[in-house]
Amino acid sequence: MKYINVEDIDTLPGKQIKEDQTFKFRCHPEVACFNRCCRNLNLFLYPYDVLRLKNSLGISSDEFIDSHVDIVMRKGYHFPDVLLRMADNKQQTCPFLVSQGCSVYLDRPDTCRGFPVEQGIFYDAVKGSCAPVYFFRPPDFCLGQHEEKSWTIETWQHDQDAKTYHRMTALWADIRRLFHQTPWGLEGFSGAKGKMAFMAVYNVDRFRDFIFNSSFLKRYRIKPEFLKKMRAGDTALLKFGFEWIRFFIWGQPSKVLKPKK
Ligand code: SF4
Ligand code: SF4
Repeated sequence: MKYINVEDIDTLPGKQIKEDQTFKFRCHPEVACFNRCCRNLNLFLYPYDVLRLKNSLGISSDEFIDSHVDIVMRKGYHFPDVLLRMADNKQQTCPFLVSQGCSVYLDRPDTCRGFPVEQGIFYDAVKGSCAPVYFFRPPDFCLGQHEEKSWTIETWQHDQDAKTYHRMTALWADIRRLFHQTPWGLEGFSGAKGKMAFMAVYNVDRFRDFIFNSSFLKRYRIKPEFLKKMRAGDTALLKFGFEWIRFFIWGQPSKVLKPKK
């Protein structure tokens, strides 16, 4: 997901699909291109993708990060992105691709869920408002675009069970755009604050340990109902990680978190 400026919107590749418009597409195992789109990808993983994949694989966040991703710093940002590492074979297939298709289908990343529709955030700097925008962008080899099944953005997202993913990605995108500027000072991202921020969003297991097994709860008060959800599940903990970055890194006020006096 990326932020799109108003002046760029007509120059982007693909066809913009507005919420009341339709597009035609159908993917199924009988298409000649089956699984071709799961090879040689620059597949960026968002924090919620990492959380779902490590739980799907039954491994820790540490193990997932060590064995499945590369961490890259993109130009113009001061927070790294996380790229799924392709398999070390001739076709550089996705590590989760098996002959029957996607082996992590129920927990596949946001980008795979939306494909071939890409979601961006349209940012109107004059009005200061944000809204999602969608582009239908199948690669030439994708034969699904010649099928007759018709979708709106709403029916497509429902079919792909993508709404929670899109919501979590949008929450992250809204924080990530803050990192056009650096908050790290002289120590840079590799300092203690950078490590803390990366852990809060990409290493939910370590973040859980930090919150519940350190002096954190002696130093900060978290709204009880939020704390209960954080104890019970990783998604609430990740949402708190987003909140923590706003509060701890950017000094923004929080409705769920306060320092104890
Ligand atoms: S290339 Fe398109 S039609 Fe082919 S498997 Fe991928 S999404 Fe389906
Ligand atoms: S996660 Fe699944 S759908 Fe996504 S590229 Fe890998 S095999 Fe394909």
